Amino acid sequence: MGTENRRAVVTQEMDFSHLEEHILMRLDKALNDHEIKVYYQPVVRTLSEKLCGMEALARWEDPEYGLLPPDRFIHVLEKHKLIHLLDLYIIREVCKRYSRCRQQGILPVPVSVNLSRLDFEAVDVLQEVERIVGEYEVPKEVIRFEITESVLTEHADEMQKWIRELQEAGYEVWMDDFGSGYSSLNVLKDYAFNELKIDMRFLSDFSARSREIIASIVDMAKRIGIHTLAEGVESREQKDFLLSIGCEKIQGYYYGPPLPYEQCLLELKDKGIDRESPAEQQYYDEIGKVNVLSANPFDFHEEAKESEFLRSSDLALALLEFDADVQGFRAIYTNDACKKALKLLGYSEPQEVVNAIKARSFPAAGRFIKALDRTRTQGSEIFNYVDGGDYCSVKLKLISSSGSRSAILYSLTDISRNTDMERDRKLDGSLRHLYAIYNEVYLLHIDKGYLEVLTTDNQEAGERQHGSIKDIVTRYAAEKVYDEDRPHYLKFFDTDTMEKKIRESQKGFINAYIRTIDGHGNYSWKIYLAFIVKPEHVLVMVRDEDTAKGNVWNHYRKDYFMEEEKEGYSEDISPEILWQNALRWTELGIFWKDRERRFMGVNCKFLDYYGFHSVEEVIGKTDEDMGWHVSPDAFREDEINVLDKGISTHEVPGHCLVNGQNKSIVASKTPIYKDGRITGILGFFREVNNAERLKSAHPDLQEIDHLTGLLNVRGGMNVLLEFQDEYMLHKQDFCMISISIDNFRELQRLYGSAFCDQVLFFIAELLRKRFGTECALLRHCGDEFRVIRQVESREEAEKLEKAVYREVAGIHMIRNKRFTLYPSTGLALYSEQPVAGQLLRTARERMQANRRRHIARFRKNHPEY
Ligand code: C2E
Ligand code: MG
Ligand code: MG
Repeated sequence: MGTENRRAVVTQEMDFSHLEEHILMRLDKALNDHEIKVYYQPVVRTLSEKLCGMEALARWEDPEYGLLPPDRFIHVLEKHKLIHLLDLYIIREVCKRYSRCRQQGILPVPVSVNLSRLDFEAVDVLQEVERIVGEYEVPKEVIRFEITESVLTEHADEMQKWIRELQEAGYEVWMDDFGSGYSSLNVLKDYAFNELKIDMRFLSDFSARSREIIASIVDMAKRIGIHTLAEGVESREQKDFLLSIGCEKIQGYYYGPPLPYEQCLLELKDKGIDRESPAEQQYYDEIGKVNVLSANPFDFHEEAKESEFLRSSDLALALLEFDADVQGFRAIYTNDACKKALKLLGYSEPQEVVNAIKARSFPAAGRFIKALDRTRTQGSEIFNYVDGGDYCSVKLKLISSSGSRSAILYSLTDISRNTDMERDRKLDGSLRHLYAIYNEVYLLHIDKGYLEVLTTDNQEAGERQHGSIKDIVTRYAAEKVYDEDRPHYLKFFDTDTMEKKIRESQKGFINAYIRTIDGHGNYSWKIYLAFIVKPEHVLVMVRDEDTAKGNVWNHYRKDYFMEEEKEGYSEDISPEILWQNALRWTELGIFWKDRERRFMGVNCKFLDYYGFHSVEEVIGKTDEDMGWHVSPDAFREDEINVLDKGISTHEVPGHCLVNGQNKSIVASKTPIYKDGRITGILGFFREVNNAERLKSAHPDLQEIDHLTGLLNVRGGMNVLLEFQDEYMLHKQDFCMISISIDNFRELQRLYGSAFCDQVLFFIAELLRKRFGTECALLRHCGDEFRVIRQVESREEAEKLEKAVYREVAGIHMIRNKRFTLYPSTGLALYSEQPVAGQLLRTARERMQANRRRHIARFRKNHPEY
């Protein structure tokens, strides 16, 4: 229909010779009377086929000439340096549209608008844009600017500066018509665009050569971290091709021509195309960074070591979407190599594998789902399984998540068919069945000191990757291996002696029993087995061992090494005697509790401090039974962390009620281990005086806001008292600035509350970094923050208020996710009315008044709302 429209216009028997003059004469009126219309063309996400954006395109509905397409008037306006009038008009219309959607509670769609280079020469584009966008309080992330490639080579320095400024202010800038100019590659090098719109000429002849060019553009864009969109898509075949190479977005007549807004939406509705939510947008933008054309797509973020498995250029790849709530998944993308590999394994299409896993008829169905779930929480996973005699290796990497959904990159290597591995096949054949028994298998290249992970099915080992044996083993020993077993573990992996030990062992292998930590802080027994598979190559296999066997082995080992270990002890100074003495003489109050957090014993200092006469008064009771914390939650949480996760706490400040007095102490707690299992808590505390507490690097737990780490209301009140003292003693004035986010509710609605928690944390971090050394900072509640500082004058306080505002309003991005904050601030000085409560109230009231002023100004400018 769009094509027909255009053709109709072009074929009109019309005299265009006076058109230029007509345009110049009529422009003002056309803008004022809205004869110039904004048409919207849909942009669709390739992976999900959802509407993810629109491009705003100008159409002039002239009473005399009829509907004029841009190529009739744009060059005229450019020639006479009037194009900025049109472009700013379009931006305003787009913002108006957004605002109207918001009023109606409709999910708005991000829109891109075209800018001309001459706009930048005529006006301060950023300033004009900020004025319009701010007036309608439009989130900056929903307005994108397109700048066509052909204008970028002239005046490159200035252009770069203008583009950078727009980006720094929080807008995305896209390169339009990429490939239409002569030096596209240079342009890419010099400008940091957010997205590349690939010119439609590449699609117009859909030859093998142009397909090759498009594929390499997408590949290159992803290498440098730029999103991709293809323009001018007209056929299903083109769309499928773009999907297969990982091009993220599609625009073209295939999904619809440019049309008036409502009509555009209606057409999409007819086609069954839904809108992408803002949260989905963030999710898919992350996925879009994966480069399926790269030799190693797993490397897209960090420079992880290239794995030997993945060097092959035609890697079998898929993107799986895992839903943790139902523990199920689907494939949202599969490349040709993957389809081929699955076919060889006997599956006619990828969905068949998914179904087989769902029906649990797939050989490693349970492990597959578990591996997906672990990838969701831990980031990556490798696992191997045997399918109909083929030995398959799967690598997984978390790409993006949103709520319970996670997108996971999957690669499949059928090792038994991989010719590179041919020489190892024999070895592999004989070991294949062992993989079913062992949770972890590593190949140690003794000569190179290199550890290769062949399979890991083990949560603790999930993060283990290929790398230096020494580094991996040392780190693992320190972080995961039970103290007592650590020397033994290191000895086992000592590459200088390993091969010799194995050769000299009569059995042809060596083994070791080692306890390693699990997710609950307990240590469980593993058996390690090492044997030589070829010179300088040792295979290490690890599996769970039952506790009984492990303990027997441990006792055997203890007896065996008894002589060695007993050295240094004498009958007179045994561990028991040392312990009794330590309890008696230390300045620390010491206690120990069982798994139910009941006291099992305490030392003399403990009894003295609390004024107990005997141990019997405490034994068997919990803190709550004793009623001795003003607010016991923080303590209880700490203890539960010790018991359930094995996490120790160190010198945590808190209060205890002693004889009616609230005393300040710092307490430390650590797990008690018996044979690797947590059986209780060992704790010790000391009293701190007030001065020490104030100086202490960690303020009182109960004065800290858990989410942001700033002071909470209670902490804020204490600080306020100190400022007040200073005011009374030395007449030192101070101010309070209250700041909150006008559009916080909207952000929650658009991006969800988990994301908004990140936003609050980010604001806190920024305030801390920028003002933390001179100001007291607190989160009052919700999205309201407060900044308190001593000041010499009102001007100084106002300056600070402006600085706080600027910092917060300047936040546009967290972890590649874009959003806009519209804050309001309120300032009060203590000297105005020297009462703490009044200061709090005044600062807030002024902030609220400012917010109301924003709204009133908006209403005045836009009486239509
Ligand atoms: P552009 O920004 O590259 O916009 C895409 C053009 O391709 C649009 O033409 C659109 O109608 C057309 N198109 C979209 N899908 C297909 C397709 O599948 N097949 C074919 N053959 N064409 C397709 P339009 O609207 O005539 O605009 C032409 C150019 O005029 C735009 O190219 C843009 O550079 C410029 N333009 C349009 N509106 C404005 C504006 O408000 N300001 C400025 N500065 N330039 C504008
Ligand atoms: Mg464009
Ligand atoms: Mg274009």
